[in-house]
Amino acid sequence: MSAPRPRLPLVHGPTPIVRRPALDALVSGVEVWIKRDDVTGGAESGNKLRKLELLLADARAKGATTVVTCGGLQSNHARATALACAAHGLRAVLVLRVADPARARREPIDLSGNVLLDLLAGAQIRFCSPDEYAQRNALLERVAYELAEAGERPYVIPEGGSNGLGSLAYVDAMREVRAQMDLGLAFPEATAGGAFDVVAHACGSGGTAAGVALGAAQHDVARATWAFAVCDDTATFERRIASIALEARGLEPELPELGLAPADEPPTLRQGRARLVVDDRAKGPAYAVMDADQKRFLFEVTRSTGLVLDPVYTGKALFGLAEAASRGEIPRGARALFLHTGGLPGLLAQGEGLREALGEGA
Ligand SMILES: *Cc1c(COP(=O)(O)O)cnc(C)c1O
Repeated sequence: MSAPRPRLPLVHGPTPIVRRPALDALVSGVEVWIKRDDVTGGAESGNKLRKLELLLADARAKGATTVVTCGGLQSNHARATALACAAHGLRAVLVLRVADPARARREPIDLSGNVLLDLLAGAQIRFCSPDEYAQRNALLERVAYELAEAGERPYVIPEGGSNGLGSLAYVDAMREVRAQMDLGLAFPEATAGGAFDVVAHACGSGGTAAGVALGAAQHDVARATWAFAVCDDTATFERRIASIALEARGLEPELPELGLAPADEPPTLRQGRARLVVDDRAKGPAYAVMDADQKRFLFEVTRSTGLVLDPVYTGKALFGLAEAASRGEIPRGARALFLHTGGLPGLLAQGEGLREALGEGA
């Protein structure tokens, strides 16, 4: 076995696996279990914290003084990076996408959700336009060059922490799930090696999908991984995830191969491949925008289970799982592990948009 990878301790784990039986009825009779990666930490919580354990350890090992990363204005990844950097004495520079950067620089910034936490953490925010963001890797390299010229030692983390190294955190998360299953912390048959039919989660930059798909296959957690795209489309994410998985396998050669599959192909267990479905049918009207049905679903889930989803990622992903189940692509009685990836600050930045869905109480 290879030596364990350096890791900065950030995650409060293992995160619990829980049941909310009332949820099954909202997902067409699928038996839903929830892996609570929304509670990997406090304000810094969510799936990005797992990736940052590996990425920031690498930054440290390379002697970095400043971490540079990017995302949308309300990026959970940027916020987790800002807080984790503050905890470990690193500076954070966040390149955030806004519709009108000139205006954002001129006017006072809206201190809500993740942006408020970024600034509390002392991170430096730089705005970029959607066009500039389309070339984000080059943009991050330019910022890093500038910081190096100013005497800093920059370390670049790509969007979402989604490179090969970051994705390995989700291979490990699936190992963590398997250990919980073996201990009897999921359904009874799991202690005798039984697996979930599907593990499902939201997909925004692809690193979680790559790691979950490879890890779920390697550790016999589930027959298939369903990644619900919240932006772009299936073909784009299939390419991106395949490339991240390739990079991950370069770091960990014993990982299985990634097998992309259409949504309507019946799952089979242990083909020696990590079967991944990328489903873009639940992404809604636009990135971070939900339609009325999705908003009502998000409200229904919290009202009946006490679980809080977010409008950018987890609300759309669980809605997508419910849709796939209602179409019969995931049969009634199947066991699904829903990976709750966090995102609460994004919800709190979008309260007004939910007024209509809340109905009489709002
Ligand atoms: C970033 C994020 C995701 C998506 O993870 P990726 O690895 O970027 O695909 C899902 N849910 C939440 C809450 C996130 O912040």
